Amino acid sequence: MTWHGIHGHDDVVEGFRRRIAKRRLASTFLFVGLPGIGKRTFALKLAQALLCERSPEERLDPCETCPSCQQVLAGTHPDVALVAREKSRARITIEQLVGPDDRRMQEGLVHAIGLKPFAGRRKIGIIDDADTLAHGQGESANCLLKTLEEPPPHSLLILIGTSEQRQLPTIRSRAQVIRFQPLEESIVAQLLGELKLVEDATLAAQLAELSTGSLQTALDFADAEVREFRGRWLKFLSDAQPEATAFSKPLASFVDDAGKDAPSRRARLRLLAMGAIDYYRQLIRALHGQDVEGDEVLRKAVASGVRGWNLEIEVAAAALERCLEAIAQVDANANQATLIDAWLDDLAQLRLVGHV
Ligand SMILES: [Zn+2]
Repeated sequence: MTWHGIHGHDDVVEGFRRRIAKRRLASTFLFVGLPGIGKRTFALKLAQALLCERSPEERLDPCETCPSCQQVLAGTHPDVALVAREKSRARITIEQLVGPDDRRMQEGLVHAIGLKPFAGRRKIGIIDDADTLAHGQGESANCLLKTLEEPPPHSLLILIGTSEQRQLPTIRSRAQVIRFQPLEESIVAQLLGELKLVEDATLAAQLAELSTGSLQTALDFADAEVREFRGRWLKFLSDAQPEATAFSKPLASFVDDAGKDAPSRRARLRLLAMGAIDYYRQLIRALHGQDVEGDEVLRKAVASGVRGWNLEIEVAAAALERCLEAIAQVDANANQATLIDAWLDDLAQLRLVGHV
C-alpha cells in the first residue's frame, strides 16, 4: 500500500491516524531508522496532512492542492520550520535552533514554533539529522531542552535520527519514538524508477539488491567505482590471509574520493562499515548452515570466508562488533587514518584467529 507516494510505512501511517482520531498526539516525536528510508518525506507529508485547509486532520489525507499543501511542498509554509545539518558542517548549529548571537531567541526553529500559528492550526518544527545534536557537548540540544520540557501550545516537534541510542537521554525521554523499518528491495527498486533517480530498470534492481533497505545506500552504489571497491572490500574481508597494511592505503584513498568535506568522507566510511556488517551477518548465517542473502559478489565472498573457518562463530560475531565500534568512532569524529589502520588490523587479526 502507498500513502501519498510514501511506500513501506503503512504501520506508521495507521499509528498516526489512531493518535489523531483519539486526540492523543504527543507534542514531540523522535523518528528513528536507517538513513534514506523516507523519514523526512514522511514528516513533511504529516505536516501537510495536519495543516491542509480542505481535508480534516484526522483523515490524514492532504488534498495536495490547497495553498497550505502547496506551501508545505514548496518549503514556504509559515507554520512549518525545518532544520537539517548543512552539508559542509558536522552538526546542526545553535544558530539554526535559536538564532545568531545578536538575534538570540528572535530567530531559529525554537523561536518559530513558539509563535502563534500563522495560518494553520499548529506550528510544526522538524529537526533532521538529530543524531548530531548529541555532538559538541550537546550545546545545541540544551537550547532545545526548555522547548521539550514546556512545548508551546499547538506545537509539534519531530526529530529525525538513525537510532534512539544516538540521542541525548534528555531528548529520548521526552519524545515518543516512532520506528521506521528498512524498505523492501522491491520498493527501493520501484522508488529509484518513480523518482527518476535511475532510469535503467536492470541497474535499479541491482542497486536495490545492494541497498539493505535504504534508498540512500542504493544511490551510493549508483557510482560504478563504489560498486567496484565493494568487491575489493569483500575480498579483503574474506581473504584467508588479509594484508591490513597493504589495504589501508587504497581504502583511505577511496574514502578521500568521496569529497573534500568531512561529512561526505564519514558517510563513505559508514557505507564500508555497513557493508562489512552485512558480510559478517551473512557469514554467521552460513556458519549456522543457513542460506546467504545477497547478490552474487557477497555470496561468493561468504563462501570463501567460510572455507577453512573452523573456529567458533563468536569470532565472526566479534568482527561484526568491531565494525559497529568503527561506526561509533566515525560518528565521534575520530582521526580517519588512525581509525582505518586500527580497524583493518583488528579485522585481519580476527580473520587469522578464525582461520585454521
Ligand atoms: Zn490541502
